[in-house]
Amino acid sequence: MNQQSNVPAFPLEVTGGDAVCCDLCGSHEREFLASVADGSYFTCGGCGLVYSIADENSLSAFYDHSYYAPGARTRYATRVTAGADDSPKWSRRWHRKTAERLASFESHRQNGTFLEIGCSLGDFLNVVDHAGWNSVGIEISEAAASYARDKWDLDVRTGTLEAVVPELKPESFDVIWAANLLEHVVSPSEFLADVDKLLRPGGVLIASTLNFDSWAFLFSGGDWEYLHSAKEHRYVFSPSLLERYCANSNLELEEIDTTGFRWISKTRQKRWYSSMVRVFEQGVSNLARLANQGHRVQFTARKPHVVAVAQSNDESAPISRAA
Ligand SMILES: [Zn+2]
Repeated sequence: MNQQSNVPAFPLEVTGGDAVCCDLCGSHEREFLASVADGSYFTCGGCGLVYSIADENSLSAFYDHSYYAPGARTRYATRVTAGADDSPKWSRRWHRKTAERLASFESHRQNGTFLEIGCSLGDFLNVVDHAGWNSVGIEISEAAASYARDKWDLDVRTGTLEAVVPELKPESFDVIWAANLLEHVVSPSEFLADVDKLLRPGGVLIASTLNFDSWAFLFSGGDWEYLHSAKEHRYVFSPSLLERYCANSNLELEEIDTTGFRWISKTRQKRWYSSMVRVFEQGVSNLARLANQGHRVQFTARKPHVVAVAQSNDESAPISRAA
C-alpha cells in the first residue's frame, strides 16, 4: 500500500523523554541493547523486559506486505494442504504437531469454544473447527483473514484483539490459543487484559513467544537472530516475566516449557550456516529443552474460577478466587 512513506527515518527513539515506558513495570529506565534497520532494542531497567522502539503505524503494512505476500501465502498454504504437498516431511511434522496440540485442548473443553488470535491463513483453526470446536479466529492481515474465510469457511475477524473484543461474548471461551504472537503486539499488558475478558472462568490461554532467558540469547546478545526488526518483534520475555505478566492480568501460570537453540546469529547466519551446524543446534536444542533454556517459550495460564467464601463462616469475607 502507500504507507511506506510514513515510516520515519532512523533513529526512532523518542528523545527527551518520558513518552516510552516499560509495558510491564512502567519504568522509564532502559539500557540500549541493539540497533536494527527499523529501530532499537532496549532492556528495561526496572524489570528486565526486552522491548523495541519503532514506528507503530506501519505494523499493519508490515503484515500485509512481508510474509503474507501472495507467493509466500501460496507456498505455505500448499504445504499444509494434504494432497498438494511439496514437502511431505514438513507436512507430516505439521500434522503430527497439530494432532498433539488438538489433543492437549480436550481437557479444557466445557463450552466447546475456541479462539485463535493470530490465526494467519486459518489452517490450524480449520483443524480445530473440524474437531467439533465452536471456533473463532482473529487475524490482523486482511489478506490472510480473507483467505481463511474463503478457503475454509471459517469465522475469522480482521483486526487486532483489542479491535475485535467488543464483537465477542465476554467470558465465553474455553481455550484461547496465541502461537508466536505476544512478541508482536503493541502492549502485552492490554493483550492479556483482553484475553482475561474473553476467557470463561476456568478457561485457559495457551501461548508461545520468545525467551531471552535462554542459551541462544546468552551466546548472541544483541546479535540474536530474533532481534531483527523492531516492528516485527517488539518484546522478548522470560519465564519469570511471563509469570508476572499473567499475575497482573488475573491469570495463573500453570505450565511453562522452553525449546530451541540457534548458535548462528543473524549477521553470521548466511556465511556459516550448514547442515553440520544444524545437527549441532538440534542437539543443543534438546539439551536446552531439558534445562529450560530454550529460546522459545510456551505457557498455559488459567483464569481462576470465582467462588464465594462460605457465608456461614464470615458474612463480610470478600469474593476470592480459586483454581
Ligand atoms: Zn520493566
